Amino acid sequence: MPKIQIMMERCKGCERCNDACPQGIVKMSKDLNAKGYNYASVVEPSRCIGCRLCAISCPDVAIEVFIEGAQYEFFAY
Ligand code: SF4
Ligand code: SF4
Repeated sequence: MPKIQIMMERCKGCERCNDACPQGIVKMSKDLNAKGYNYASVVEPSRCIGCRLCAISCPDVAIEVFIEGAQYEFFAY
């Protein structure tokens, strides 16, 4: 299963990752980070398909996607 790591303190709450996720599983938290923004979080990580669109869409490089096994091979281009 892909693992998503969101560095919440880098997040500025722009919601681009939220819009980009085809699974609709990146949501904005109700809590604020140290900068005062609602930060992104993954609400149903088991539904992640490892497409990396959330990470690619983040202008602040706040998201990393780790993929192992067959999915890693598929996306290793
Ligand atoms: S890798 Fe794709 S499916 Fe997974 S959280 Fe990011 S955008 Fe959504
Ligand atoms: S795209 Fe990046 S900065 Fe914008 S809400 Fe998502 S994690 Fe935060």
